[in-house]
Amino acid sequence: MIRFAAVPLLLALNFSMCKKHETVSQNGQLVGASPTPAANAAGASPGAASAAATPKITKPVVDQTAQVIIFCYHRLVDKIRYPGTEITPAAFEAEMKDLKDHGIKVISLQDLLAWKRGEKNIPPRCAVITFDDGWKSQYEVAWPILKKYGYPFTMFIYTEGVRGGALGGGEAITWEQLADMRDNGVDIQAHSATHQDLREGHNITLITGGKRTRTKLTGPQYQEWVRNEVVGSKQLLEERLGIKANCFAVPFGNYNENVKQLARNAGYEAMFTVYGQPITFTSPMDSLGRYAIEANKPKVFTDAEAMIGGSTGGGPGVAEVGAKDLATQPADGETIRTPLPLIKANLSGVGQIDPASVQMRVSGLGVVPASYDPKTGIVSYQVTQKLRDKSCTVIVSAKSEGKKVEAHWTFGIEEGAKAGASSPAPPAKR
Ligand SMILES: [Zn+2]
Repeated sequence: MIRFAAVPLLLALNFSMCKKHETVSQNGQLVGASPTPAANAAGASPGAASAAATPKITKPVVDQTAQVIIFCYHRLVDKIRYPGTEITPAAFEAEMKDLKDHGIKVISLQDLLAWKRGEKNIPPRCAVITFDDGWKSQYEVAWPILKKYGYPFTMFIYTEGVRGGALGGGEAITWEQLADMRDNGVDIQAHSATHQDLREGHNITLITGGKRTRTKLTGPQYQEWVRNEVVGSKQLLEERLGIKANCFAVPFGNYNENVKQLARNAGYEAMFTVYGQPITFTSPMDSLGRYAIEANKPKVFTDAEAMIGGSTGGGPGVAEVGAKDLATQPADGETIRTPLPLIKANLSGVGQIDPASVQMRVSGLGVVPASYDPKTGIVSYQVTQKLRDKSCTVIVSAKSEGKKVEAHWTFGIEEGAKAGASSPAPPAKR
């Protein structure tokens, strides 16, 4: 416990020593200018930062309607021998291009988590790329392709499978390669020690000093083994690479509440399975499903794209329009003071609009009876029922020349915002 507590403290000291003169934190947010950096580090009190500087200290407003698909890849080989876990480099690259062609933005796993925490916004339709097990071809073949597209990605590593480990043969990735990836911004996360079913009483292979024994573990023996798989692997990755591992990909997706509890206590923020499904703002963090892409099931990829409205297989195309181009009111990211705003967008720049097709959706309300003026191109709706959440997402869609166009934007509502004299707001929460 002491060791874990000491790490953030050291980091904090280190941070204040080398960034003495900075007033901007790593994520670009203003943390306040003060002659005493030590006091400054803890001084994120919103009240202290007066209106003098840009007051962008509060959490950003995030789009809670966004959806994310997570892909899980294994080996990239020219000649497929194990179609369950292999894919050709050409097929892989075609899929990466497909995401781009369908307007699905590839974001990092850490950005996905930051969005789930309400700290960072993400585009409406996103994908996350992950690789399991730690194969050499992920370093040699996949990485150059991903660099070409500028896509971030995550490596889920089982520690005994790294070259030189009990299960790390010639095709395995090396610690040096992992360090190179780390230095270039690749996210490296945990995938157990020996990649087996983590549930108590299931068949496993025990590896001790080069000897392999097929067995079933229960009781304290199991506890010790599973602890090394879930916690030990995390510690080893963190120590070898000097990283923080906050994600755990469950081998084969085989786990249960005990394993989850162990992982949570170890400090994992998110756990991943291989049961693919779109991730939403409210998806539980301990079972985030990934789509495992296999050479013999190419449909899994296109189906996943279709799940979040990426237009594939002849489905209706949707063109995303930036909220800025629509001069929206409230603006994207703005924080307003009333829970009863007038919501407006100007569609005149979008092109020929079919007036009957204009639709406005408001989070918490659904489709609202917005009015559209074909002369000005303005769609507007006066909210009549108080918006209850801290943030509100608006989706405006319309048909333009046979194509569906859509804009998403999100604004914040100040806590305790007054609805007007006639309807007093509830007391401000502290
Ligand atoms: Zn695996």
